[in-house]
Amino acid sequence: MNHETSITAVEPFILHVPVTGNMIQDSTHTVTHWGVVGVRIRTAHGLEGYGYTGTHAHLASDRLITSCISESYGPLLLGEDACDVQRLWAKMYNHAPVQWVGRTGITHIALAAVDTALWDIKAKAAGQPLWRLLGGATVERLEAYNTDGGWLSLSPQAVADSCRRLIEVEGYRGVKIKIGSDNPKADLKRIETVRNAIGADARLAVDCNGRWNLPTMLSVAPHLPDFDLMWVEEPIFYDDLPGHVRLAQSMATPIALGEQLYTLDSFRDFISAGALHWVQPDITRVAGITEWLRVADLALAFHLPVLAHVSDMGQVHVHLAYAHPASTLLEYIPWIKDCFVEPIHVREGYYDLPQQPGAGTTLRPDAFERYAQQTSPR
Ligand code: MG
Repeated sequence: MNHETSITAVEPFILHVPVTGNMIQDSTHTVTHWGVVGVRIRTAHGLEGYGYTGTHAHLASDRLITSCISESYGPLLLGEDACDVQRLWAKMYNHAPVQWVGRTGITHIALAAVDTALWDIKAKAAGQPLWRLLGGATVERLEAYNTDGGWLSLSPQAVADSCRRLIEVEGYRGVKIKIGSDNPKADLKRIETVRNAIGADARLAVDCNGRWNLPTMLSVAPHLPDFDLMWVEEPIFYDDLPGHVRLAQSMATPIALGEQLYTLDSFRDFISAGALHWVQPDITRVAGITEWLRVADLALAFHLPVLAHVSDMGQVHVHLAYAHPASTLLEYIPWIKDCFVEPIHVREGYYDLPQQPGAGTTLRPDAFERYAQQTSPR
């Protein structure tokens, strides 16, 4: 037992941070703020770990997460060595009363925040950034692609203009835009407008956010090769395994999926069925870094590329994407980066390699002053 990293306090928090332009939409969601809902874990000799999940800043549901952290997981952690991350993950995941009410959903999302805070402590205790603790960077430069110019709430021309600026001025090599509206023909036109604006060489991906049904997607699919897309993300409902299998067998464009999958078991089922091509685990959904690494290893065993989805806005995923050999590109969205002591940074289309010890999750004090919400009703 390392008494220096013995856990002394488990303190949940909720931050609501405004998104770019104060509102964005995809085919399924309208978001004005990003919820940074998580936990600060204190240890005996002063090391603090921060972990969080990503939400749509709905206070009532955010409080279900913080309640689970403080009431269900907190008592399991006090007095434990924070560096025993695998053991503590299993202790929390297998805690029978919690597992009975939720092997996925809120309990799993809460576990994501706690697990991330534990890894943050483990990396800080080692004096290393997380990517180094995990074995070192496997690529010299990690390429970023930008999603923040492609919202469905913007007109096709506005999306085309912002994507062209990202490619030509900011130096990105790829962008992702949202589709999946009620008018698939208009969405095809939207893709064409963007492709024409950014040129033939730039990487372009599209994201339906699970909105279309199988017949709609099958009717759109034959037109997509005209636009040379890297992938179609969440083309139909997230959990529809047989639907994705049929789509993968009939659609030429590769499928990306995973931001809504909660477990290693779900990824095993989709991957082994041949239902996806780009694997998109998100630490904030799959119960943290511990399970994310297992999913990435699974993808590696199938020689499938990993594209971390960044509900954490990339603060932790940049460490994982640099460290894991299956990882390729990494999404970039800038909404919450300025809340952190070491914000993510993209230069000429590539992520800077983080330098400070930890998982990149340490929040600045003024982030709490500006964005904190009450974790329980007064
Ligand atoms: Mg997506």
